Amino acid sequence: MSTSHKELCYFEGKIIPTTEAKISIQTHAFQYGTSVFGGIRGYYNPKKKNLYVFRLFDHFNRLVNSAKMMQLNFKKSPEELVEITLDLIRKSHYHQNIYIRPIIYTSALQLSPRFHDVDVELAIYILKLDDYLDTENGLRTIVSSWQRYSDNQIPSLAKSSGGYVNSALAKSEAVQAGMDEAIFLDANGYVSEGSAENIFLVRNGQLITPSLNSSILEGITRRTIIKLANDLKIPLVERNVLRSELYIADEIFFTGTGVQVAWVKEVDRRIVGDGNKGAITKKIQSLFFTIVRGEDDLYKDWLSSVY
Ligand code: PMP
Repeated sequence: MSTSHKELCYFEGKIIPTTEAKISIQTHAFQYGTSVFGGIRGYYNPKKKNLYVFRLFDHFNRLVNSAKMMQLNFKKSPEELVEITLDLIRKSHYHQNIYIRPIIYTSALQLSPRFHDVDVELAIYILKLDDYLDTENGLRTIVSSWQRYSDNQIPSLAKSSGGYVNSALAKSEAVQAGMDEAIFLDANGYVSEGSAENIFLVRNGQLITPSLNSSILEGITRRTIIKLANDLKIPLVERNVLRSELYIADEIFFTGTGVQVAWVKEVDRRIVGDGNKGAITKKIQSLFFTIVRGEDDLYKDWLSSVY
């Protein structure tokens, strides 16, 4: 099977070569981060010769809700966005793992920062993408000196571009300290999430994840893992998580579209559990990868087949 594809994107209502999609330096969103975006994965299964996009509708539902929270004047429905995206992938002929990035952005060439009364546009581009962080060898992390922004500063349930300044600061701090990833605390000092992923801990056989009260982005992968834990009969609680629980957890893993399910080996130079990938993490991770590759019919409703 040829892996040749065309780098196409959706831009100003049309499908065009990605290299031709250009915006002005005066664009409102470029100056103020006044845009919302998504990150979606498609997994190519060579045995089935098909590409499966994971929870496409749910991602677009969150994107449209993000636009609503920000008062962006965006008219398309999640259903329309699903159709546009599948058409774009088909026309691009991708036969490998991909990452899809939709952005709703203030396209006007206007000066004052605001959300009301500004023109918006939709752009969607696609990248080839395998693993974003290592999922096999264990990640080294630190608790960030940067606090996760609170919902009354920037809506935490919206995936808004401006909010990612917070993520970028935390990620750079962690990587420059020789680590792989950062863990944010919220304004009350409770564990929130990673720079671009949600977090789960295992203590005494129970899965624990911060609730929406901890300024987290409500991850589609997080929601997936909560459902899988239920199906696997692994007890799970959403609650406030103490920083010190990170130091004594038996297992910790991150979840997110980019990171997938990746386990954490170290937090603030303390080894998590016995320093190996834990039993519950293994179970969840292996079921997750089976599902996204289209190899478990029980969960096929989560997948959109491209071909
Ligand atoms: N939190 C943040 C800050 C993120 O950027 C992401 C990635 N979108 C997540 C959590 C995980 O969300 P999802 O599982 O929907 O990709």
